[in-house]
Amino acid sequence: MSTVNRILNFSAGPGILPLDVLEQAQRDFVALPGVGMSVSEISHRSKTFEAIIGECEADIRSLAGIPANYHVLFLQGGASTQFAQVPLNLLAPGATADYIVTGAWGEKAAKEAKKVGTVNVAANTSAGNFSDLPDLGALSLTPGAAYVHYTSNETIQGVEFKSEPTFGDTPVVCDTSSNMFSKPLDISKYALIYAGAQKNLGPAGVTLVIVRDDLVGKAPASLATMLNYATHVKEKSLYNTPPCLAIYLVGLVMKWLKANGGLAAMGERNERKAAKLYAEIDRTGFFRGHAARGCRSNMNVTFRLPTEELEGKFAKEATAAGLDGLKGHRSVGGMRASIYNAFPEAGVDTLVSFMQEFEKMTG
Ligand SMILES: *Cc1c(COP(=O)(O)O)cnc(C)c1O
Repeated sequence: MSTVNRILNFSAGPGILPLDVLEQAQRDFVALPGVGMSVSEISHRSKTFEAIIGECEADIRSLAGIPANYHVLFLQGGASTQFAQVPLNLLAPGATADYIVTGAWGEKAAKEAKKVGTVNVAANTSAGNFSDLPDLGALSLTPGAAYVHYTSNETIQGVEFKSEPTFGDTPVVCDTSSNMFSKPLDISKYALIYAGAQKNLGPAGVTLVIVRDDLVGKAPASLATMLNYATHVKEKSLYNTPPCLAIYLVGLVMKWLKANGGLAAMGERNERKAAKLYAEIDRTGFFRGHAARGCRSNMNVTFRLPTEELEGKFAKEATAAGLDGLKGHRSVGGMRASIYNAFPEAGVDTLVSFMQEFEKMTG
């Protein structure tokens, strides 16, 4: 099937989805094969939807090698609701949660947790405008903390953890919204990980939460039913009406990931894509990367130009050339190229050529 012209979408989120997924969704949207109704019209308690959500979970489990003592939940309210839901479930009165703040999202997560209980900010790299990661050996961690929270990839600053740190026996909670399934991961290192789907997993409207069994059921009885993880574990994410269409699309993305070599192949491809861009950024000094070299994100590549005027010109001309969404977040300035799983390698080559051309013309 040939499609309408698609431009190169560098948006940070909602981000690009695989074309195969969009085309299949389009083909099957009016009537799911063998069902005769749209996924948006069927009961979430129907056999058809049970199969859709069940298969989606099974594919997530096999892609990420999720151990049996973890639950896979499909929730709503975005990653931003998790900023509150995590402490509401896991931060008991009298306990302390440690937060490693390496960017704008981690800052928000810590702020929400402070509304619930005692928070110790174990590190905060805001002094350097979140361009580097803290020395993990020099964190001020709380002995016996309820959990330690960090953000594996800071979408706005383009700073990514290259390892999956653990902190002794303290449960690790991680916001992986913008790099979930961009490379292999070891779920056993986490107590709970969460991701809003709209960066790398699917469309907006569903939040993936993977939580270890022993952390479920710890919330106070007074907690609202919808905010208690135990509710969604017990009801298999069907306590209330789930975002059926979004879950269906996440399911198609998981099938696409499997068909394209799984997380290992994704990781290699993402590494290669990002390396091409960073090599161009470093080539002459005309462009300057925001993130320190050791923690440059493979998902969100942030860079500056010599002047804000040139940055404005770059963004404008890029858009005119069909390279959309490159303007960086105002807190960092400059450019941000979000190159999630679905972003084609050839599109990165196009951006590199555009950068070289732009430098030649103006540098
Ligand atoms: C986008 C993003 C969020 C917020 O996600 P919502 O689903 O919009 O609430 C949180 N954390 C990170 C790392 C993000 O990239």
